[in-house]
Amino acid sequence: MKIQNPATGEAIAEVTVDGNAAVLRKYEAARAAQPRWARLPIGKRIDAIRRFRELVVARHDALAHTLTQEVGKPIRQSKNELNGLLPRIDFFLEASARALRDQNVLADDAQKLREQISHEPLGVIANISAWNYPYFVGSNVFVPALIAGNAVLYKPSEFATLTGLHIAEMLHEAGVPRDVFVPVTGTGVTGGALLRQPIDGVFFTGSYGTGVKIAAAAAKRLIKVQLELGGKDPTYVCEDVDVKTAAAGIADGAFYNTGQSCCSVERIYVHESIHDAFVDAFVAEVKGYRIGDPLDESTYIGAITRRPQLDVLRRQVADAKRKGAKVATGGHTIKGRGNWFAPTVLTDVDHSMMVMREESFGPIIGIQSVADDAAAVDLMNDTEYGLTAGVYTTDERRAKKLLAQVNSGSVYWNCCDRVSPRLPWSGTGHSGVGLTLSTYGIQTFTRPKAWHLREM
Ligand code: NAD
Repeated sequence: MKIQNPATGEAIAEVTVDGNAAVLRKYEAARAAQPRWARLPIGKRIDAIRRFRELVVARHDALAHTLTQEVGKPIRQSKNELNGLLPRIDFFLEASARALRDQNVLADDAQKLREQISHEPLGVIANISAWNYPYFVGSNVFVPALIAGNAVLYKPSEFATLTGLHIAEMLHEAGVPRDVFVPVTGTGVTGGALLRQPIDGVFFTGSYGTGVKIAAAAAKRLIKVQLELGGKDPTYVCEDVDVKTAAAGIADGAFYNTGQSCCSVERIYVHESIHDAFVDAFVAEVKGYRIGDPLDESTYIGAITRRPQLDVLRRQVADAKRKGAKVATGGHTIKGRGNWFAPTVLTDVDHSMMVMREESFGPIIGIQSVADDAAAVDLMNDTEYGLTAGVYTTDERRAKKLLAQVNSGSVYWNCCDRVSPRLPWSGTGHSGVGLTLSTYGIQTFTRPKAWHLREM
């Protein structure tokens, strides 16, 4: 498989794809190795992850360079991703032992009866991953899964394979056995082969369409299926905000990572009384973004990682224009080598348009005027997705009242495009099932076992 730099179209490496036989061999090795890994004291597994963290720090710049080369992410943002990985790992280092400790839930001396819950690893799990934040979405799964005693068959996205192989190298050097964390390389075909093995769970990050296929493939075997999928995340801007500050923060939430984040702001609703002022401030902000060589430290907008996404973006703009939207800036691909799309702001949009209903996953955003809070809540909930949603207002009570009515896994007051290791990361509807992060996101890689203990 050729690895291409999406910013230039150049081939930068070639990797071997795992076919059916290789996948079977890797599965069998992982199955054989897992019990020994699970029997280690948890402290030893945590120590290996601590060493992995040290290697990430030591190789920071080289890892950022590879990530930028293979996904087209601006180098500063690649470095930020690696910097952001560290507090995530720290959370797991600190919280796992407590989250996985046996729990005593009853001690009845009169009946000489005790009840306990232990957290057993699931066994051998598949971690099928996305390319947009490979360190984040990967580590959300493999770090707690390994600490909990599982073996992990890790299939990085075909668009982030080199990064996936770096992750594997570092984990192995850190002391995780090669048969306990096993990279599996290839496209969806290899992912399909992985799902045909008798694994004990599949933890997937990617698109809704693929998520449905994964769930269907796993259904007959009744294994644990966790799906972290896409979003169409809304933000509502109330009339009481400082328009410039809100516009700058929300534009960053929409365009950071070139809009290729699951929790990018994808729809903006603005109270009609400040709509025009907000649009002016927002467009001025977006026009200031520097597009260009992703290896340049001052670049903010990078390449579109997957070439077919350019068609999605073009189709959404054309559909919106046909139905009456105005292009305030951008609206077109940028000619030349590689995959490039100009940062695009559409106004006069409504929910008949694809851009307000289907995940864009790129640097385009629609801004819609709303008359009041009730209309904003109705529009925010008019979606099949439910990953995140935000409200900008100076009034905390108003924000909480509105956010309580919004159907999504995470809600934000005066912020957006934010993930915390301490909070559960989950979605409703087409945004997925299950969760990662927080102590729930540690226990999710285990099977609770109930112990009924009576002394004779
Ligand atoms: P994708 O669905 O195209 O691919 C994801 C992974 O699935 C890849 O590793 C791919 O090779 C594999 N795959 C594809 N078909 C398969 C099949 N039939 N069987 C098994 N595996 C298969 O998604 P993508 O383009 O890598 O990622 C972008 C999507 O991910 C967006 O929708 C984004 O919103 C979502 N995402 C969600 C989160 C979250 O936390 N909710 C985080 C990041 C990205």
